[in-house]
Amino acid sequence: MADQPSLKDVRAATLVNPKAKKPVSLSDFETHGGKIFDSKKDAKASLEEDALAINGLQDARFAGKAGALLIVMQGIDTSGKDGTTKEAFKYTSPLGVHVHAFGKPTEEDLAHDYLWRLHKRTPRRGHIGVFNRSQYEDVLVVKVRKLAPPELVEQRYEQINQFEKHLVENGTRVLKLMLHMSKKEQGDRLRERLEVPEKRWKFNPSDLEDRKLWPEYEAAYETVLQRCSTPWAPWHVVPSDSRSRRDAIAAKLIRGELEAMKPEYPDPGYRPEQFSID
Ligand code: ADP
Repeated sequence: MADQPSLKDVRAATLVNPKAKKPVSLSDFETHGGKIFDSKKDAKASLEEDALAINGLQDARFAGKAGALLIVMQGIDTSGKDGTTKEAFKYTSPLGVHVHAFGKPTEEDLAHDYLWRLHKRTPRRGHIGVFNRSQYEDVLVVKVRKLAPPELVEQRYEQINQFEKHLVENGTRVLKLMLHMSKKEQGDRLRERLEVPEKRWKFNPSDLEDRKLWPEYEAAYETVLQRCSTPWAPWHVVPSDSRSRRDAIAAKLIRGELEAMKPEYPDPGYRPEQFSID
């Protein structure tokens, strides 16, 4: 078996460098993940190890109420936002992991500023929050489908950067994962949804409308990566054509964030020898 990639390797292959001078092009990032993991077998072994480590790290963080971690998961339909979350946290207690899927805003959401519904769902200390879609929908679907005036959308990149800076400065780490998939792979997955009876519920005809807007979405994502990969909350582009490689890459990055928080079990405030249990 070839050497497994280290966290450093995975970070280097996926990071959108906040200081890069060159405009971001999605074509510079692979969709397959073969450069990171030689084989699916390697990816599966790596995921297994990292998913177990995530459980151990999160258990200590939960006990110690150490910092908060927000994982922002963005990607075009079928890119695997649900599947990635499920795999990375398959051994972790659901107690401290909260997933919020942000669909079309409700009437109440729309009666507030667009960040209101997101800020309400940010994780508390010791917990992990996963945003399945996020504040970035307000500069992706909203931009592509022209749901808000362009000058309002234009202001949002900097507003989002400042929102994330506020979170980071107040004890929340922010990990942003863009699940990057080819148009061909999306076609295969949409067809699979129609063909497999258990997957039909996931098919939504509006996904085909979005598929027609593929170049517009790609351009909108490139602008997001260009303008919102910041030193405090950089973007990572996760190759997502191969489910096993995608899950392994995301799990490695999540484990890296948890390790960086150096979780420790809290001092219980007593010595076990003080007690005897009959
Ligand atoms: P998913 O496709 O993630 O499984 P849904 O089928 O509920 O979930 O789709 C959610 C839809 O809500 C997507 O089409 C997404 O673009 C849309 N959406 C999310 N946020 C916004 C927003 N702020 N404004 C308009 N539409 C949004």
